[in-house]
Amino acid sequence: MLIIGSHVSMGGSEQFLGSVKEALSYGANALMVYTGAPQNTLRLPLSRLRIPEAQALLRESEIPLDRVIVHAPYIVNLANPGEEKRQFAIDFLTQEVRRTAAMGGKIIVLHPGAHMNEGSQEGIRRIAEGINRILANTPESGVTIALEGMAGKGTEVGRSFEEMKNLLDLISDQSRVGTCFDTCHTHDAGYDVVGDFDGVLAEFDRIVGLHRIRVVHLNDSKNPREAHKDRHANIGFGFLGFDVLHRIAHHPVFAKIPKILETPYVPDESDPKRSFPPYRWEISMLREGKFDPDVLKLIRQGEPGEEPED
Ligand code: FE
Ligand code: ZN
Ligand code: FE
Repeated sequence: MLIIGSHVSMGGSEQFLGSVKEALSYGANALMVYTGAPQNTLRLPLSRLRIPEAQALLRESEIPLDRVIVHAPYIVNLANPGEEKRQFAIDFLTQEVRRTAAMGGKIIVLHPGAHMNEGSQEGIRRIAEGINRILANTPESGVTIALEGMAGKGTEVGRSFEEMKNLLDLISDQSRVGTCFDTCHTHDAGYDVVGDFDGVLAEFDRIVGLHRIRVVHLNDSKNPREAHKDRHANIGFGFLGFDVLHRIAHHPVFAKIPKILETPYVPDESDPKRSFPPYRWEISMLREGKFDPDVLKLIRQGEPGEEPED
């Protein structure tokens, strides 16, 4: 069966238990959570995350723990030229890896960082040093850091397969790093995901190695190829289109890898402050292979909610 889910929130009184319930309500058999708001670094103590109940529900639902993905917040930057900020990022991400392990997760997705005009080489060096220290701080965790390929916005590091390879090559423990392949980012970075996905995979394999992919982020893109924008669109409503994304979802190369949707909530037409999670419908369209052009109407008839950011 297709391994697919979406990012889900983790908040309120139910915390991780609520995340699992939310994923199940979408018909998902994988999920990705932020351990708190992705735009800040405030985190609850582990004892309040309701981990045992969440894990019991996962067992009952036959969702293995290696399909629970954690996404690190994107406001910490291991490439920050400021020494203190870099140290903060290392300490915070060390805690994130420990939280991931405590939840039973095996993979944490991390945006490599931004070199902030110090050049990508220097950025790569700093990020690798930071990751090596985080991994050294967490030897027993069993958690792998999956570095996400980026769209190439601003000074983002990881905008090409070559940059990803150079970064990965500097990590001391190869058994604990991998990558996250985001379809929107790869297209925005300039690769021909639409016209020649197998060619893109072959190039990725030659430079980085397909065996390093641990997670796929399945997103449509609001922008044409090489736009370097990173704005996700709903499945079938962007420049990638349903057929391309459906084919990627079912690609044999990703058969055992969780596919995670980070597509945007659909806003109410009259009240844009209300918006609706699209995942139940997107997951079912991708499973069945049939695109419904009127799906946004159906999504707006669901329960409104609060969107985790990408
Ligand atoms: Fe992503
Ligand atoms: Zn993105
Ligand atoms: Fe991401």
